[in-house]
Amino acid sequence: MSDRGALPISTRVPDHGADARPGLSGIPPAELAAWVESSGEAAYRARQVGDFLWRRHAVDVSEMRTLPAALRAALGEAFSVSKLVETLVRPADGGLTEKALHRLADGRLIESVLMRYPRRPGRRERATVCISSQAGCAVGCPFCASGELGFERDLDTAEIVDQVRFWARRLAAAGRHVTNVVFMGMGEPLLNADAVVAAADALVDPVRFGLGARHVAISTSGVIPGIDRLTALHPPWTLAVSLHAARPALRDVLVPLNRRYPVVAVVEAASAYAAATGRRVSYEYVMINGINDTSADAAAVAGLLHGRLAHVNLIPMNPVAHTPWRPSSTQRIEAFAAELHGAGIPVTVRRNRGDEIGAACGQLAAEHTGDPAPAVVRLRRERLERVGAAALGAERV
Ligand code: SAH
Ligand code: SF4
Repeated sequence: MSDRGALPISTRVPDHGADARPGLSGIPPAELAAWVESSGEAAYRARQVGDFLWRRHAVDVSEMRTLPAALRAALGEAFSVSKLVETLVRPADGGLTEKALHRLADGRLIESVLMRYPRRPGRRERATVCISSQAGCAVGCPFCASGELGFERDLDTAEIVDQVRFWARRLAAAGRHVTNVVFMGMGEPLLNADAVVAAADALVDPVRFGLGARHVAISTSGVIPGIDRLTALHPPWTLAVSLHAARPALRDVLVPLNRRYPVVAVVEAASAYAAATGRRVSYEYVMINGINDTSADAAAVAGLLHGRLAHVNLIPMNPVAHTPWRPSSTQRIEAFAAELHGAGIPVTVRRNRGDEIGAACGQLAAEHTGDPAPAVVRLRRERLERVGAAALGAERV
């Protein structure tokens, strides 16, 4: 893994083909212990490997100097210590936000973001890492750059965890550590639930990454079977639901998965999670000028969430090339927040972090795969204007 500063990153696959070795950080401790033992080494060596991986955030076997050379060589042959082949980092927000574009062994690009929040009175310093769960996304929300990329593939557990280890290593050099992880980068986490649950387990496991169990948030566009699965496991993670519209016809456009998993059923499933865990569900609402930001929209959200263990987070839309849509004005966002507040719904307004480097999901990767031709952008915009108008037609006030 190398930081290439301002150099562009390639999507090249090495001449000898993609690296097929499993990622070490995706191997459960018991399995690693069994592997070490079967290599004829003492059991404590597995703990040493774990230390290099989880405390020192190693990216190569050559760093594991206290291991016998034979074990190091065998480990390097069997496993990849980091699944991130190359990384490009861009700063923003005066250095408080940093965005990484990672190249995987098969040339796919994914992204992760570090957001640092300095200490405030009564609040400790935080370092939140936003990670990807898939390369691209199949859901296709029209305001989202990942949706525009389309689905490429699921990430495996190590590819997910290694994004966090990347930032932990960088922060450690400055005497800091990762305090929170949010699954809000590229991809729909609950359409890759096996790997996501295993990654979150590794992150909160005290003998592995050791993150505070309550410091993980998983954001979903509303995959009901995935939410039900979390409810059955009832982990102490925060569940975030990307709502963006309460009215079904509009949500069909903004979050196309609504046609498969309708919003009312999604909120029911999320409420069951809240009941099982005692944790408030966070509803994310991207504010798009003239599309989902009217009083009628606020009333619909209030009606949907009234009496539930819920909290609404309003996010001004980050502009993306392929849509004609723009963020709502600050006044409109404040008015929308006031309407929700007046209806008894807890609400906050999130300032966009890192807009200048394209921190909305998928923007950096989309940029690197090449901008679509202007004619294609125009056609997409026209189509969106049409479907948007059709969805809104009967409902506008
Ligand atoms: N697929 C999951 C998680 C990743 S998206 C989900 O949709 O919940 C993380 C968040 O970024 C979502 O709430 C998504 O709606 C939001 N997002 C996507 N594109 C955006 C944009 N252009 N501006 C602001 N937020 C955006
Ligand atoms: Fe996928 Fe989330 Fe983007 Fe929608 S907002 S396209 S679900 S990553």
